[in-house]
Amino acid sequence: MSNNVYQQLVDDFMARVKAKNPGEAEFHQAVQEVVESLIPFVEENPQYKHAKILERMTEPERVILFRVPWMDDKGEIQINKGYRIEMSSAIGPYKGGLRFHPTVNLGILKFLAYEQVLKNSLTTLPMGGGKGGSDFDPKGKSDNEVMRFCQSFMTELQRHIGPNTDVPAGDIGVGGREIGFMFGQYKRLRNEFTGVLTGKGLEWGGSLIRPEATGYGCVYFAEEMLKTRGMSFAGKTVAISGSGNVAQYATEKVNMLGGKVVTLSDSNGTIYDPKGIDAEKLAWVLWLKNVKRGRIKEYVDKWGGEYYHEQRPWHVKCDVALPCATQNEVDKNDAEALVKNGCICVSEGANMPSTPDAVEVFIKAKILYGPGKAANAGGVATSGLEMTQNSMRLNWTRERVDEELHTIMINIHKTCQKYGTEPDGFINYVKGANVGGFVKVADSMLAQGLV
Ligand code: NDP
Repeated sequence: MSNNVYQQLVDDFMARVKAKNPGEAEFHQAVQEVVESLIPFVEENPQYKHAKILERMTEPERVILFRVPWMDDKGEIQINKGYRIEMSSAIGPYKGGLRFHPTVNLGILKFLAYEQVLKNSLTTLPMGGGKGGSDFDPKGKSDNEVMRFCQSFMTELQRHIGPNTDVPAGDIGVGGREIGFMFGQYKRLRNEFTGVLTGKGLEWGGSLIRPEATGYGCVYFAEEMLKTRGMSFAGKTVAISGSGNVAQYATEKVNMLGGKVVTLSDSNGTIYDPKGIDAEKLAWVLWLKNVKRGRIKEYVDKWGGEYYHEQRPWHVKCDVALPCATQNEVDKNDAEALVKNGCICVSEGANMPSTPDAVEVFIKAKILYGPGKAANAGGVATSGLEMTQNSMRLNWTRERVDEELHTIMINIHKTCQKYGTEPDGFINYVKGANVGGFVKVADSMLAQGLV
């Protein structure tokens, strides 16, 4: 079949998706990227086509929308929206994070849940896909306000989730503090201590390495990509965006492997430190972001370097780029600047941080490009390991969990290599991740009948 025929099938598929899901731009973007890889594969494997597996996977099994009323410190009533998208339970209980951010809407959560299905499958662990959250903004709120919001949010969510049904975790705006408040409320309402959330504190069912897992995993994946070209992180200059959970631990792992991280950012701007963000500076960033909850620009007052207001890191010269903030934070211009400045590897800690135009630039330039659904799967994989430990009522050592995480990332890389290697030897990790994640979910759906 020619490329034109495939393109027509993709266009027809997307026309139907857009008509059924109007106004959900990020969801359309995520589906388009996946079906571009999968339609040729499905055409070659008609059992998937006849069973309309792609069409079924693109419709969530269930969408839950609810009101979250809470009272702020001034005694004023606030109302937010709450969501949980239960996208696929083909290979295990729904699993995926909760995002608290003012930009959250149905389309963003559906894109995240859709990606999550393939990502979770890639980990090889038995986890379905879901995502949820709220348009609540934790920034500038007191701990008491965050607690009241989390309690109200969980009061409704608890009736839809459970350790064998749906197991949420953290994402943007949801870290250890929020997971703690939600877990406390779940336990109080249900009178049961179970692994219903992951990312829990170590003393109450959490796993060692879970906070580090997404950042570490993203760097392990980049390391595997670099190895295919006989390279390593030693001596490499690395640009990282974000300064939250994923960015913090990606920085730590790059330092451990002998690279030098020169940027971090937040939604206000980027800091550039040409001397490198070493362990001492990083410990301060963790305090700034996780305890003081301040802005990244404060870094330059303390450690020097430059601050670029309302700019992203991608115009700084680097060998490796790790986008670890949010969706669509690398556009075509950014991608061109990265390639022009000699960047050879992009590994996505965030979900869908590169726009479709940017991805095209990376693939055309044949640099190493690891899409989020493969490169950031270490977070959910370690959540899966937290669920295993909860079921066994055991705690594994730091070394054990890190080793399991590392092995999972190496295996995800192998899967991408298996399904994404092109005739000239170039590894198209987008195709590799999409096809590699799809097969297990699709075969499970075939086996389970029309569900
Ligand atoms: P955090 O809330 O800990 O940190 C998010 C960081 O990104 C902050 O520095 C934040 O800046 C910045 N950011 C958020 N929104 C924007 C925006 N619109 N523009 C610019 N910067 C922004 O979240 P995480 O580190 O957990 O998540 C980061 C990314 O990684 C997300 O895409 C998430 O989906 C993905 N991810 C996370 C996983 C996890 O285990 N936590 C697992 C897999 C993927 P500010 O403080 O100004 O908001």
